[in-house]
Amino acid sequence: MKLLGRTALVTGGGSGIGAGIAERLASDGAPVLVADINLEGAERIAAGIRAAGGQAQAFRTDVTQEADAAAAVAEAESRFGRLRIAVCNAGITDRSPVLEMPFAAFERVVRTNLFGCFLTAQAAARAMAQGDEAQRGGRIVTISSVSGQFGGTGRAAYGASKGGIEMLTKVLAVELAPLGILVNGVAPGPTQIARTAHGPRQRDAFLNRMAVKRYGTPADIAAAVAFLCGDDCGFIAGHMLNADGGFAAAGVLYD
Ligand code: NAD
Repeated sequence: MKLLGRTALVTGGGSGIGAGIAERLASDGAPVLVADINLEGAERIAAGIRAAGGQAQAFRTDVTQEADAAAAVAEAESRFGRLRIAVCNAGITDRSPVLEMPFAAFERVVRTNLFGCFLTAQAAARAMAQGDEAQRGGRIVTISSVSGQFGGTGRAAYGASKGGIEMLTKVLAVELAPLGILVNGVAPGPTQIARTAHGPRQRDAFLNRMAVKRYGTPADIAAAVAFLCGDDCGFIAGHMLNADGGFAAAGVLYD
């Protein structure tokens, strides 16, 4: 119960990695607002957390909308008390090659992943910065991807959005640490979620680069997030923690 009573907001908490993060923070004692554009998914995850004895509430939010970000923070605080943790996890992808990608597709991905991350982090930070030194503070965790660190085919919008999140994480950390708000990020490698549909070629290419010869699970990523939200992490700011089975460690593989 390392996060007992620390109100948390998890965007994109209605499925996949975000659901794993919401469940993990709740099992560590945090009351969690499970915020997602897919309210049905968020409700299912929140109900599962409550059935397991945790505290959770679903909330519909679109991370691309500034008013939604403020509303999610206000809802979390009115239900559970002062916001202490925000995880900017909601994200989408588009694998179109550059020559075929309509601008609208590029814009949609960057708007959701990068702008959405900014809006959630900003709304959370505004709440966490309220009050005197004893009252203010919190943790913000962004979710990037190894695609924000490496080039690759079909990654123009997604990779650019995630690379942007990595720099945004550093800037947020520098500006907010003096207010007691620690900002860090987690960069997952290939992680198995319900809708993962990688063909054998892609799967082999990923596994070949991963020293730990398996895909990650939402629980693997959630463990890294929980560490960054807890008291064991008091002197880390602006760090991108790769939870990727060694993907980023591998350069050219000779055999
Ligand atoms: P997912 O599709 O299961 O989860 C994404 C969630 O975000 C969904 O519940 C979706 O409804 C929600 N969402 C989408 N647009 C939204 C919006 N505008 N407002 C609010 N919610 C919105 O996929 P996932 O793999 O769990 O992705 C979670 C995060 O992890 C993303 O940021 C993704 O880029 C990142 N990531 C995933 C992997 C992987 O292999 N699965 C690897 C690296 C990074």
